[in-house]
Amino acid sequence: MPGIIASRCAECGHLSVPAARYCPNCASDMVQGQELPAAGQLLSFTTLYSPPSGFTAPLRIGIVQAEGGARLMCDGLGEEQLSVGQMVYLEEADGIYYFFTEPGPTERQRLLARLREPRIGRARALAQSFLQRFMRRG
Ligand SMILES: [Zn+2]
Repeated sequence: MPGIIASRCAECGHLSVPAARYCPNCASDMVQGQELPAAGQLLSFTTLYSPPSGFTAPLRIGIVQAEGGARLMCDGLGEEQLSVGQMVYLEEADGIYYFFTEPGPTERQRLLARLREPRIGRARALAQSFLQRFMRRG
């Protein structure tokens, strides 16, 4: 399984996923191409049973902490039983991160089906606003 690509701050060591050119903590240059294991810990998640029009319900968004502390927002498939703190598997496709409760070809097929859905850009915008609310709560 391919890893998740991050950037690491040369000054403070902060890891950023997706990779960023400058550190969000101290604005130093970041070292690109840091590969993290494609797994992490589920910190928080939400499930929308009445998502905006165009989305298939349920729509699930999770915050996952990868190795080294990088936090990323992920789109889940909205069917699995989840609990905060559990380990999940990560996959990136076209700049969108997905989390799965188990690895394997079945999950991959479901990911590909999800990618064929047309409103993926809006899913990303929704995930972004969820992440911002989560970070503010702190
Ligand atoms: Zn830094």
